[in-house]
Amino acid sequence: MTDRMPPIDSRADPLLAVHDLHVRFDTPHGPVQAVGGVSWSLGKGETLGIIGESGSGKSVGLEAVMGLIKSPPGHVSGEILFDGQDILKLPDRVRRALRGEEIAMVFQDAMSALNPGMTVGSQISEVYRLRRRCSNDEARRKAVELMDLVRIPSAKTRLKAYPHEFSGGMCQRVMIATALALEPRLLIADEPTTALDVTVQRQIMALLSELQRETGMALVLITHDLGVVAEAVNRALVMYAGRIVESGDVATLFRAAAHPYTRGLIQSMPRIDSRGADLFSIGGTPPAAGRMPPGCAFHPRCQHAVDRCRVERPELAPVLGGTQLVACHLAGELSHG
Ligand code: SF4
Repeated sequence: MTDRMPPIDSRADPLLAVHDLHVRFDTPHGPVQAVGGVSWSLGKGETLGIIGESGSGKSVGLEAVMGLIKSPPGHVSGEILFDGQDILKLPDRVRRALRGEEIAMVFQDAMSALNPGMTVGSQISEVYRLRRRCSNDEARRKAVELMDLVRIPSAKTRLKAYPHEFSGGMCQRVMIATALALEPRLLIADEPTTALDVTVQRQIMALLSELQRETGMALVLITHDLGVVAEAVNRALVMYAGRIVESGDVATLFRAAAHPYTRGLIQSMPRIDSRGADLFSIGGTPPAAGRMPPGCAFHPRCQHAVDRCRVERPELAPVLGGTQLVACHLAGELSHG
C-alpha cells in the first residue's frame, strides 16, 4: 500500500503545498514515525485548522515546514512547496530567511517565548527594524501601531513595560504583534490559546481572525480544540497517529463528520444544552510512538471496527463525491448514519 496521497486541496496556485510528508526520529529504541505521509495545501489568504491530540503529529508536521526539525535525530522527507519552492531543498541560510520574512509562528506559551529582560516595545520594534532595515524611530512607531492593532490598550505608554507586567492574554497579543512585525504571508499558530482562560481564548481567536482578514495573510491553526477551529478557520484536517484521517470545510465536518475519531471529538465538545451531563470521551489512548497498530491505527479505540480494519490501513478518499476526504473503510456507511 502506498503512502502517497493526493493533496487535500488541489488549488492551481497554493501558497503552501505539502506532499507526502514523512517525519521520523531515531531513538535508542529504534526509529519512530511521527508523521506518516501527509499531503495538504493552503491557498493565499486561506485559513486552515489542523486538529489532533498530542502525539498526533500535528505540530511536528508544521515544525518540519518551519525547518525546526534537527537532523539527526529527525529525518524529514517529501515535498514542502512554499510559493512553488521546495523548502526541503533550500540551503539552511535561505530557509532561515524564509522563516524570518515570509512565515511566522505563534506558540502556546507566550510568556516563555518572550525575552523577560527586554521591554515588549523593543521586542516588537527590533523584529520590524531587522525586517525592514529601518531607523529605530520608525520601528518604534510601527511597534505602537502593531500593539494598537492587537488591541493592547495605551500602547504608547506600555511600550516600555516588561513581559512580567502583562497578563498571559496580553503576552499572547505581544507575541502576535511580534509575528505580524515580520509582515508574514503565512502565520502558523500552534495552540495559541491553550494556556489562557476561556474568555481570553475567545478574544485571542477573534483577534487572529480579524487580523487574518485585515492583512490577507494565510493562517494555519494547530489545536486539539475543535471549538477553536469552528470559530477561526474555514477548512480543517484531523490528524491521528501521524496521518490525516478526515478533512473538509469546517461546516461539513461539524454537520457530517464521517470518521469515528472526528465524530468522537465533536461529541466530546462541551455544549451549552448539556450542562451538568457527563462529557463524552473517546475510550482508550492514542498509540505510543513506535507502537503503531497494524491496519487502521484507530481500530483499538473504534466501536465500529471490523476485521478488515485490523489488517488493512484505509487511505484518504472522498465521501459522497464531495471535497470531504476520509480515511475509514466504513466512511460511506457512517456518513449516512
Ligand atoms: Fe474504525 Fe475501521 Fe474506520 Fe478505522 S477503518 S475508523 S477502525 S471503522
